[in-house]
Amino acid sequence: MTIADNLHQVRARMAGAARRAQRSPDEITLVAVSKTKPLSLIAETAAAGQVDFGENRVEELWQKAEAAAAAGLDPIRWHAIGTIQSRKAKLALGPPSFQSPPGKSAICLIHAVDRPKIAQRLSRLAAENDRTLDVLLEVNVSGEASKQGFSPAGLVDALPALLDLPALRYCGLMTMAPYVDDAEEVRPLFRDLRCLLQELRHTFPPAQFPQATWQHLSMGMTSDFEVAIEEGATIVRVGTAIFGHREYE
Ligand SMILES: *Cc1c(COP(=O)(O)O)cnc(C)c1O
Repeated sequence: MTIADNLHQVRARMAGAARRAQRSPDEITLVAVSKTKPLSLIAETAAAGQVDFGENRVEELWQKAEAAAAAGLDPIRWHAIGTIQSRKAKLALGPPSFQSPPGKSAICLIHAVDRPKIAQRLSRLAAENDRTLDVLLEVNVSGEASKQGFSPAGLVDALPALLDLPALRYCGLMTMAPYVDDAEEVRPLFRDLRCLLQELRHTFPPAQFPQATWQHLSMGMTSDFEVAIEEGATIVRVGTAIFGHREYE
């Protein structure tokens, strides 16, 4: 199986899940998670038509973004999908050497704003650079201690202060489901995230809070992306099913 075959299969499975939920496959963005994988495989994936790529470490993201640009690949939309350590927040804006379009970050979306402190820091850094960052808020719907993110109730409490930050645009929610053998077990968690997004749209409506668009649900990985799509995912983050197993994290 080549990467193009894998990609084709993942897209076909996404379309099947969308159909089962009476949704259009066009509503769902596939982010190819290329962490630990070399630029050669990213190039192969891009050549097969893939535009959105995700990395969980910002240093690795920028190394690859710079290398991809230097190699003349078609422009890639980069997604920062992992937790950002406070002392690395500056990297979310990119290294000074990287040529971003004016007023924009080359990272199109930061998926895992998981605590007020990192939101404050990202907003301050973005404001200093005359930028606005598109972010998702990470929610720990399973309540597992090992998972990052706001609790659903904690997020509702934190939102008034988050919405006061000047340079973040809240595009939706993200979650990492626990790994289970049967994806059906995590269906209720995906449903909970969708319900929480609906609640936020109602409590903090975009008409009143234009800095909150609430359009995205980033949920679903190799083991559960079809169930996530059936439950309303607009973005799925898939690594292993496209690139094969990772040798290290
Ligand atoms: C690694 C990773 C993924 C992809 O995981 P796979 O199981 O390989 O599809 C998705 N989201 C995040 C945040 C990740 O770190």
